[in-house]
Amino acid sequence: MTLDQHPIWETVRDRIKVEWRGDDDAHDPRLVRGLELPLRGLDSTAIRRILETQIPCVACSRVICPFRVRKGMSDRMTLPREVFVSATCPTAINMGCNRTKAARAEQRRLVAVLQ
Ligand SMILES: [Zn+2]
Repeated sequence: MTLDQHPIWETVRDRIKVEWRGDDDAHDPRLVRGLELPLRGLDSTAIRRILETQIPCVACSRVICPFRVRKGMSDRMTLPREVFVSATCPTAINMGCNRTKAARAEQRRLVAVLQ
Protein backbone atom coordinates (compact mmCIF):
# COMPACT_ATOMS: atom_id res chain seq x y z
CA MET A 1 0.00 0.00 0.00
CA THR A 2 1.32 3.43 -0.89
CA LEU A 3 0.58 6.49 1.20
CA ASP A 4 -2.07 7.82 -1.17
CA GLN A 5 -3.89 4.46 -1.00
CA HIS A 6 -4.09 4.61 2.80
CA PRO A 7 -7.40 5.85 4.33
CA ILE A 8 -5.48 8.61 6.17
CA TRP A 9 -4.71 10.24 2.81
CA GLU A 10 -8.20 11.82 2.79
CA THR A 11 -7.31 13.69 5.98
CA VAL A 12 -3.83 14.79 5.01
CA ARG A 13 -3.74 15.36 1.26
CA ASP A 14 -4.96 18.97 1.27
CA ARG A 15 -2.59 19.86 4.10
CA ILE A 16 0.70 18.49 2.82
CA LYS A 17 3.10 21.21 1.73
CA VAL A 18 5.83 20.54 -0.78
CA GLU A 19 9.12 22.20 0.17
CA TRP A 20 11.13 23.16 -2.89
CA ARG A 21 14.85 23.53 -3.17
CA GLY A 22 16.14 26.72 -4.71
CA ASP A 23 13.90 29.03 -6.72
CA ASP A 24 10.34 28.78 -5.47
CA ASP A 25 8.93 29.41 -8.94
CA ALA A 26 10.86 26.61 -10.61
CA HIS A 27 8.91 23.73 -9.07
CA ASP A 28 11.01 21.12 -10.77
CA PRO A 29 9.96 17.74 -9.34
CA ARG A 30 13.62 16.77 -9.04
CA LEU A 31 14.11 19.66 -6.63
CA VAL A 32 11.82 18.62 -3.83
CA ARG A 33 13.41 19.18 -0.44
CA GLY A 34 10.68 17.38 1.42
CA LEU A 35 7.02 17.11 2.30
CA GLU A 36 5.72 18.80 5.43
CA LEU A 37 2.40 18.25 7.12
CA PRO A 38 1.22 21.07 9.43
CA LEU A 39 -1.17 19.72 12.06
CA ARG A 40 -2.62 23.04 13.24
CA GLY A 41 -6.40 22.94 13.51
CA LEU A 42 -6.65 19.16 13.75
CA ASP A 43 -8.00 17.64 16.95
CA SER A 44 -5.89 15.27 19.04
CA THR A 45 -7.74 12.19 17.73
CA ALA A 46 -6.89 13.10 14.14
CA ILE A 47 -3.28 13.88 15.07
CA ARG A 48 -2.89 10.53 16.84
CA ARG A 49 -4.38 8.74 13.82
CA ILE A 50 -1.82 10.49 11.62
CA LEU A 51 1.08 9.63 13.94
CA GLU A 52 -0.05 5.99 14.15
CA THR A 53 -0.35 5.52 10.38
CA GLN A 54 1.74 2.67 9.04
CA ILE A 55 2.76 1.76 5.50
CA PRO A 56 5.55 -0.41 4.08
CA CYS A 57 8.85 1.32 3.31
CA VAL A 58 9.05 1.75 -0.50
CA ALA A 59 12.66 0.53 -0.47
CA CYS A 60 12.65 -2.50 1.87
CA SER A 61 8.96 -3.12 2.75
CA ARG A 62 9.56 -2.89 6.51
CA VAL A 63 6.50 -1.36 8.23
CA ILE A 64 7.14 2.31 8.97
CA CYS A 65 5.33 5.42 10.20
CA PRO A 66 5.36 7.84 7.25
CA PHE A 67 4.48 10.92 9.36
CA ARG A 68 7.35 11.69 11.69
CA VAL A 69 8.40 14.43 14.06
CA ARG A 70 11.74 16.05 13.24
CA LYS A 71 14.60 15.33 15.59
CA GLY A 72 14.85 17.97 18.26
CA MET A 73 11.20 18.93 17.87
CA SER A 74 9.76 16.04 19.82
CA ASP A 75 8.17 16.56 23.18
CA ARG A 76 6.33 13.56 24.50
CA MET A 77 3.98 15.69 26.62
CA THR A 78 2.51 17.72 23.77
CA LEU A 79 1.31 16.81 20.31
CA PRO A 80 3.51 17.99 17.46
CA ARG A 81 2.44 20.98 15.38
CA GLU A 82 4.07 19.68 12.25
CA VAL A 83 5.46 16.40 10.96
CA PHE A 84 7.37 15.50 7.83
CA VAL A 85 6.31 12.87 5.35
CA SER A 86 8.58 9.98 4.37
CA ALA A 87 7.84 6.75 2.52
CA THR A 88 11.03 5.10 3.74
CA CYS A 89 12.62 3.84 6.97
CA PRO A 90 13.98 6.43 9.41
CA THR A 91 17.74 6.78 8.88
CA ALA A 92 18.30 5.50 12.44
CA ILE A 93 16.68 2.19 11.41
CA ASN A 94 18.02 1.82 7.91
CA MET A 95 20.34 4.51 6.58
CA GLY A 96 20.10 3.37 2.99
CA CYS A 97 16.37 3.40 2.29
CA ASN A 98 15.83 7.13 1.80
CA ARG A 99 18.74 7.29 -0.65
CA THR A 100 17.34 4.68 -3.02
CA LYS A 101 15.88 5.25 -6.46
CA ALA A 102 12.60 3.87 -5.12
CA ALA A 103 12.53 6.59 -2.44
CA ARG A 104 13.15 9.39 -4.93
CA ALA A 105 10.60 7.97 -7.37
CA GLU A 106 7.97 7.70 -4.66
CA GLN A 107 8.56 11.26 -3.49
CA ARG A 108 8.22 12.52 -7.06
CA ARG A 109 5.07 10.47 -7.53
CA LEU A 110 3.50 11.87 -4.35
CA VAL A 111 4.36 15.42 -5.39
CA ALA A 112 2.65 14.77 -8.73
CA VAL A 113 -0.42 13.36 -6.98
CA LEU A 114 -0.57 16.46 -4.76
CA GLN A 115 -0.60 18.86 -7.68
ZN1 LIG B 1 13.31 0.63 4.47
